[in-house]
Amino acid sequence: MIEQNTSRTELAELGEFGLIEHLTRNIILKNESTITGVGDDAAVIKAGDKHLLISTDLLTEGVHFDLTYTPLKHLGYKAAVVNFSDIAAMNGLPKQITVGISPSNRFSVEALEELYSGIYMACDKYGVDLIGGDTTSSAGNLFIAITVIGEAEFEDITYRNTAKSNDLICVSGDLGGAYMGLLLLEREKQAFIADPNMQPELEGYDYILERQLKPEARIDIVKSLKALGIRPTSMIDISDGLASEIKHICKNSKLGCQIYEEKIPIDITTISMAEEFKMDPTIAALSGGEDYELLFTIKQADYDKIKSLSGISVIGHMTELNEGEYLISRSGTAVELKAQGWDAMKKNED
Ligand code: ADP
Ligand code: MG
Repeated sequence: MIEQNTSRTELAELGEFGLIEHLTRNIILKNESTITGVGDDAAVIKAGDKHLLISTDLLTEGVHFDLTYTPLKHLGYKAAVVNFSDIAAMNGLPKQITVGISPSNRFSVEALEELYSGIYMACDKYGVDLIGGDTTSSAGNLFIAITVIGEAEFEDITYRNTAKSNDLICVSGDLGGAYMGLLLLEREKQAFIADPNMQPELEGYDYILERQLKPEARIDIVKSLKALGIRPTSMIDISDGLASEIKHICKNSKLGCQIYEEKIPIDITTISMAEEFKMDPTIAALSGGEDYELLFTIKQADYDKIKSLSGISVIGHMTELNEGEYLISRSGTAVELKAQGWDAMKKNED
């Protein structure tokens, strides 16, 4: 007889990461070909001489996207790209995807064609093949589940748990833009609900809207690092905000970190939108999600090489575990890093 567990624990007690840890804590890998299972941006599987990277991302209507302001083509593009980003985070290249969708009868064939035109556009841009999936009806919300398969040389694969003390912490591009884009779209949606005759005020904010609606995976950085002969000592993609992601690297590598507020790259459009919302742009960078930039650590010896790569900011360094995780503010005060990133199940996550 299957034993029934009669006690009830609320999901909010564990949060997203706690839940994953809880559900996967007893896994014992059975196959020699499974090199790495749960716990990184993608799993690593040995297939002959090759190493494959596999990751799944599920997007849920009402949680991850709002169809009142998300064009279906953009949604398809983003659903594919966020998966490619997890392969970039392992220092690999995406090669194939499978796509699962659950449309209700609210969607027309033409609407789903739009969604797929975005998926195909991303596949063309990143050189990825769509090789299968699953289709089922839904009583309500649309779900889009994409699994990506990537490839990497074994020695190139980068994990979250391999940073070393004193390594430099680097980030690509700029942060906080996708979140400010989301706040702007939400503001205009509310204004439209209040007065349907109102035209949305989106002019001058193309950059942050694009960051939210049409992100890119930084495969270009993976290629540039390889060309420069830099192998990151650890890497993760920024889907949940800088603070949450650096804390993953710290926790998995059993280290601490110091990052410098003044070094965090933030675009001018993000700053001016944050000002409009009376919000500190640093908070948007630390806790706003969905920038899909790469956060990685390198050996100090690689500093000169990384300086030659444009669009990379060195924002701090790794420290010993007992030194904690700190943000050094512009005024020089050390503030303990708290992750309040995107977490569908819990408001504050450490
Ligand atoms: P990311 O933000 O990079 O997509 P997640 O935080 O979603 O990563 O997942 C962290 C790790 O947990 C990954 O290795 C992922 O494969 C694994 N994981 C997430 N959800 C589940 C689940 N429901 N069952 C098993 N493993 C999961
Ligand atoms: Mg990731």
